[in-house]
Amino acid sequence: IADEKKPDKWVFSTCGYCGVGCGLYIGVKDGKAVYTKGNPKHFVNQGTLCPKGLSEHQMINSPHRIQTPLIKRNGELQSVTWDEAFTKVSNEFKRIQKEHGNKAVSVIGTGQFLTEEFYTLGKFVQLGLRTNNYDGNTTLCMASAVMGYKQSLGSDGPTSSYEDFEHADTIFLVGANIADNHPILTLHVNKNPKKKVIVIDPRASKTSQMADVYVPVRPRTDLALYNGLAYIVLEQGWEDEGYIKANTNGLKELKKHLQDYPPQEVANITGIDVKTLYELAREFVSNEKVITGWTMGINQSFMGTDTVSAIINLHLLTGHIGREGTGPFSITGQCNAMGTRETGFTSSLPGYRNYGDEKALKEYAQIVNVPQDIIPRERGYKYAEIIDAIDRGEIKALWITATNPLVSFVNQDKLRKTLAKLDLLVVQDAFLGDTAQIADVVFAAATWGEKEGVYTNSERRCNKANKAVEPIGEAKSDFDIIIEFSKYFEGVNEMLFPNWSEPRDAFEEWKKVSKGQLCDYSGMSYELIEELGGIQWPCNEEHPKGTKRLYSSDTPFRTADKKANLVCAEWYPMAEPVSPEFPVILNTGRTVEQWHTRTKTRDIAILDNLAPEAWVDISPIDAQKLKVKSGDRMSLSSPRGRVDDVIVRVTSSVREGTVFVPFHFNEQLVNTLTNESFCPKSGEPNFKQTAIQLHSVEVP
Ligand code: SF4
Repeated sequence: IADEKKPDKWVFSTCGYCGVGCGLYIGVKDGKAVYTKGNPKHFVNQGTLCPKGLSEHQMINSPHRIQTPLIKRNGELQSVTWDEAFTKVSNEFKRIQKEHGNKAVSVIGTGQFLTEEFYTLGKFVQLGLRTNNYDGNTTLCMASAVMGYKQSLGSDGPTSSYEDFEHADTIFLVGANIADNHPILTLHVNKNPKKKVIVIDPRASKTSQMADVYVPVRPRTDLALYNGLAYIVLEQGWEDEGYIKANTNGLKELKKHLQDYPPQEVANITGIDVKTLYELAREFVSNEKVITGWTMGINQSFMGTDTVSAIINLHLLTGHIGREGTGPFSITGQCNAMGTRETGFTSSLPGYRNYGDEKALKEYAQIVNVPQDIIPRERGYKYAEIIDAIDRGEIKALWITATNPLVSFVNQDKLRKTLAKLDLLVVQDAFLGDTAQIADVVFAAATWGEKEGVYTNSERRCNKANKAVEPIGEAKSDFDIIIEFSKYFEGVNEMLFPNWSEPRDAFEEWKKVSKGQLCDYSGMSYELIEELGGIQWPCNEEHPKGTKRLYSSDTPFRTADKKANLVCAEWYPMAEPVSPEFPVILNTGRTVEQWHTRTKTRDIAILDNLAPEAWVDISPIDAQKLKVKSGDRMSLSSPRGRVDDVIVRVTSSVREGTVFVPFHFNEQLVNTLTNESFCPKSGEPNFKQTAIQLHSVEVP
């Protein structure tokens, strides 16, 4: 760095994009963030960063930052004071709740918040506004992993550590394109000299190029594949009888259930021949250390929860869990998807307490000193159910924080019409994205680098993110916004946030709330987190430096009898089968250069130059049939809409009859096409299989 550009100081922090959780430093000069560099001492990334992390400081000064609160007047968003914005929203919330009941106000949160912010928001919404119609955008990416862990192991919580990728003999990556979506995680896979990597994915993504074996399973047949592998393990007597007997329930029922998944039947469903199925099953049992990593290819499915359980079944049958180099490991998407799962108020109460558990309710009420009867007894609507309730006219106000459904949710045309039915749409965000533009009121939020708190990464490691610069304009941290907004509701601030003035106040309460739970933070402090380079929960007196992996002998399963459940998971054909009119399967996903709906990355020149627009990956056979070549433009349609002007990339990475399009781009809004089918247990959308039609353009 040239002398005149050298930062005045480097601020210790953590990347705010994906769930890998890389440690970094933010370079600050004259009060502005000017550099980002990797932290060489941080276990997660050891000094490396992906292109997004390296350019993260540029996001802070984006021209699309919202600098003041805004209210829509005469169809235009106009700058107002914080008092005007808070007064308008609080008055409207009070009116709507008086006329239509508390639950007519709903909130959609985000895995972009810091843990302190999400805990504070959940507490305010559920105990202050008294509505349980509250969910997070994490339901679009992680909910199936949460519910799968719960039904199999008794609680949410990824089992393993990144270190386990370094120790495993065999690494299965299923529906996980880590090369694009968790790039620094590949560091840990590549550090393992003896590993065998098996990639199971309908698409030969960049990750398949790391594989020793690539298994091109048919779209949405992974649940049948895992049932088939479990069948073979039991048929061959390869199971770990001792482990099963001591640690699981349900073997008899599972054996009966698996009779529907003999190898030939599974081969017919998955497209994987019988010999390969036996080889895959053997891979699972012939080595001591086997780990499975999965992400959205598994979670974003109408069978997501049960597919997760089918993967966990195989680990339980073979005893590959709770030991070094093993485990069914769900890799999270957003920087703090895990933090939202722990602090809860969505699929569970804070600290993974169950809604129906009166003892847990009482305990929580006592810790935070609130009347027990104001704590909800049951979960409210999930994300998609909130949207449906708005459509029916049952929900009248929606407060969205740090997420952009007008790019990320399914069936965009319908969503836009539904949101127009609201009496009040409030968006709290740092960027004027697509959803913020249609809001009635916008709360101007600070972003990464302008605020402090904790993110939990995929391996349960709590990392500290620090404030390097002051929030832009009049923007406030999300913590400050919630605390100040709560003062507009009589008695709420005093009851819920007495004397809270900084995120540390929320963190200290959260430590008490989590004490004794699986996600125990009681042994942590901000200082210790920084000193140790992150701490994996549970962290308490017994485990003062955290815990590398769950479900070893000292962390039993969280079921009543401390035994895991072998789950009978049923495979179903696709939610939206192809037809003569819509004969192609659309798969959507991400690319390493962009982040989600591009609110954060679109103004970063280096990222935008690398990936400026959406594209469609199409197989050479389909390209020939349609007479298109790489560089041509084409249209895609489904029963829900049409997307035009998408550039063609002919590639053998997708199989005949399937295409892949990244979902980041609002110019080619691929979620116009996606369908409204959801996992009934988790509420997660089935983003990855939509029946579509391809429309070629004239080729000269
Ligand atoms: Fe940030 Fe994820 Fe890239 Fe690491 S891999 S620098 S956490 S986006």
